[in-house]
Amino acid sequence: MPIQILPPQLANQIAAGEVVERPASVVKELVENSLDAGADQILIEIERGGSKKILIRDNGSGIAEAELGLALSRHATSKISSLDDLEQIVSLGFRGEALASISSVSRLTLTSKPAAQDKAWQACAEGRDMQVKIKPAAHPDGCSIEVLDLFFNTPARRKFLRSDKTEFAHIDELVKRLALSRFDVSWTLIHNGQTVRQLKKADSREAQQKRVAALCGKNFLEQAAFVEVAYDDLKLWGWVLQPSACKEQLQCQYSYVNGRMMKDKLLNHAIRQAYGSMLSAEQQPAFVLYLDINPRQVDVNVHPAKHEVRFHQARLVHDFVASALTDALLQLEPQQQSSEVV
Ligand code: ADP
Ligand code: MG
Repeated sequence: MPIQILPPQLANQIAAGEVVERPASVVKELVENSLDAGADQILIEIERGGSKKILIRDNGSGIAEAELGLALSRHATSKISSLDDLEQIVSLGFRGEALASISSVSRLTLTSKPAAQDKAWQACAEGRDMQVKIKPAAHPDGCSIEVLDLFFNTPARRKFLRSDKTEFAHIDELVKRLALSRFDVSWTLIHNGQTVRQLKKADSREAQQKRVAALCGKNFLEQAAFVEVAYDDLKLWGWVLQPSACKEQLQCQYSYVNGRMMKDKLLNHAIRQAYGSMLSAEQQPAFVLYLDINPRQVDVNVHPAKHEVRFHQARLVHDFVASALTDALLQLEPQQQSSEVV
């Protein structure tokens, strides 16, 4: 076969293979866009585990009529324009791939009205040639993105979807994670017409604790220590469960770096090290922790789904987290201290 440039839809579908694993990954990308657009109200409406419908509505900055088509194109982003921007990224997105990828494997409709525009406009993309049609619509300030029939044109991918129940469980878990990342946003999650989660904005520490209790359980909150430690331009805060309450089955393990959800090896290692011999090999730590760090000190462009980061001063970050948590845990269970010392 001669070398040829791939048609746009195929190129987008290949990229979709990296970021769009299942309905929950679509929800993640769309909600992150809403957060980047400054929304403080996010509605997530799901039908049939997301395989039928995923709708995200936000009250963020919206997309101007003239940019609707562009928003759906690959490598089109409003979030960075130079390498320097990439090195101090503060937005959740920056690759300009999500909407193009998702629209290449679904029937996507984007409806939006920026506050400065007097009417709303809608763009529909339905796989194929990636041609986008634009027409007038009705919508309050903000943006709605509806994704119907995910993977309808990629049967091999559709086959890998699990039951509606399982796919929705992934979405619900993700929404928990996201809702813990932004206390200043109100969240609604609806599945098959039923409201599953409704979380009001949590502006005070008390309201934050209520949200943690709602999402991680009352027991978690009651048996956790609140941590808040700063050193240089590093800050760690959040909740860690006292060792004696840690169970063998996985409870909440939520960590965030600059508001971005993480499954980072270095952080997990530091947390485990802090618990040290206070946990048996079978017990799992439980935590909701936020690490704030100078964006220049961390590289988020390591993984397409951005679950991992690279810290420039990895050792320093690791030891900071480990020692801050060790102190907090020892205060919870001081008897551990004497046995450690002996
Ligand atoms: P990225 O988030 O990496 O920039 P996306 O493909 O996810 O790429 O989105 C492309 C662009 O569309 C964004 O840069 C943003 O300008 C615009 N956009 C997407 N979703 C929204 C939204 N909910 N509100 C406002 N603008 C949005
Ligand atoms: Mg995005």
